[in-house]
Amino acid sequence: MMRVDGTVASDDEGGRNSGGTMDYGSAWARVKRRLRAELGEDVFASWFARLELEAVAGGTARLTVPTRFLKSWIESHYLDRVLNTFKAEVEEIARIEVGVRGTGAPVRTVATGAPKANPASGPLARLHAAGSPVPVAAVAPEPRAAEAGGDLSGTPLDARLTFASFVIGRSNALAHAAAERVANHQGEGALYNPLYLHAGVGLGKTHLLHGIGHAAREAGRRVIYLTADRFMYGFVNALKTQSALAYKERLRGIDLLILDDVQFIQGKSIQAEFGHTINALIDAGRQVVVASDRPPTELEALDERVRSRLGGGLVVEITALDEALRVSILSARLAAVRASHPGFDVSPQVASYVARAITANGRDLEGAVNRLLAHATLTGTAVTMETAESAIRDLVKNREPKRIKIEDIQKLVASRYNVSRSDILSERRTAAVVKPRQIAMYLSKVLTLRSLPEIGRRFGGRDHTTVLHAVRKIEKQIGEDSVLGDEVELLKRMLQD
Ligand code: ADP
Ligand code: MG
Repeated sequence: MMRVDGTVASDDEGGRNSGGTMDYGSAWARVKRRLRAELGEDVFASWFARLELEAVAGGTARLTVPTRFLKSWIESHYLDRVLNTFKAEVEEIARIEVGVRGTGAPVRTVATGAPKANPASGPLARLHAAGSPVPVAAVAPEPRAAEAGGDLSGTPLDARLTFASFVIGRSNALAHAAAERVANHQGEGALYNPLYLHAGVGLGKTHLLHGIGHAAREAGRRVIYLTADRFMYGFVNALKTQSALAYKERLRGIDLLILDDVQFIQGKSIQAEFGHTINALIDAGRQVVVASDRPPTELEALDERVRSRLGGGLVVEITALDEALRVSILSARLAAVRASHPGFDVSPQVASYVARAITANGRDLEGAVNRLLAHATLTGTAVTMETAESAIRDLVKNREPKRIKIEDIQKLVASRYNVSRSDILSERRTAAVVKPRQIAMYLSKVLTLRSLPEIGRRFGGRDHTTVLHAVRKIEKQIGEDSVLGDEVELLKRMLQD
């Protein structure tokens, strides 16, 4: 059998079986493997792990998923991709149909050797009546996506990130005060609901959220802390197992919901469910705390009503850390490290140099402390101004990274590959255009702070999964092909200079 990619499928790969009928089961297993490789584990686990082939009839492949939500998501986002991937394996497939697996007994068990469902009942029977489908022989069992996310255990809190270890300064005093009040609130109802914290990266949002979580738990309140991914995948998994109602019920059974990095919440259905969840909690008088890298009005991926609900409580920004605050954070970190490394001594002069040199954020301050420590322990010498300078040189250099524009990336990559920028933005799919486009997407992801959906929009209105795919693909190729690796590195340097 000649496959589209020009390779010849061997018999054991399931071209045609000895009976002369197509072995759709193994073709489908290959389709799934391919989707997983192309889309990446996260996307695959979220949307495709439960997608199963039910039957093939008259060029139509009938696929099933457990929920209507998954059906409509796949139909609106991935139908063409699934069709093309399937077609590449089995030429005759001309159409894909997605159905919801019936309630009650499963239509078909997929494990090899498992007894087949009675074809006289269930959706398969309807297909039998409609045409004369070739029932799927056997599909290799796919490892199930981790379903642990379907529960509501939340993301664990980091024991280090408490109110006690949070240093208060001018830029975060208001956020800290609001956080403490919310965490310690007793009695009916909720204070500022939701409490919405926003700030650039490394300015202490997550630290404050964890602080709230610890304090509220100590006061006996039921707290769930979720990152946006956890919310999305937890929710999706819960839907997959058809326990959306149970999920929501359990959400309502908590006192305080903390959601970190909500700017990553995306997708029509998920944001709708996100809106419902927030509304249900707030209406029930439960406290909601949210953090993001931007104010609610700028959460472009979210619906206007959800945005205004998020902005309807107290919105507080944490601004850049001023020097006094940086000195305090640094001293606190140094003291904490000294507790476990008694020999580690950093003079006030060095500390103040570091606090002046590193202006960007708390994460870099922490990085600097780690480097000083590594330096001191590796060389066994005290930290001098010189050693400090060389230890943190690259952190200082990155202090004000040049703002790289996506447009500049597109122009540079286009000229390097002899195509035009409009080719890169176009729908064209020839290899000569696809490769530079993917490299440009990859560079946009690693050199700018733009989100995947934003990058997709700037590349001719593409979907974020397309960008994700490109980023993963180039990452992989760089690892395997050192020539490409060097080339991308060079492009990076040209853009950064
Ligand atoms: P964000 O979530 O805003 O990106 P984080 O809360 O992860 O930032 O903070 C980054 C690092 O800086 C963490 O190690 C955190 O403990 C530290 N940090 C930030 N602000 C403070 C602060 N005010 N006091 C103590 N540590 C801080
Ligand atoms: Mg954070």
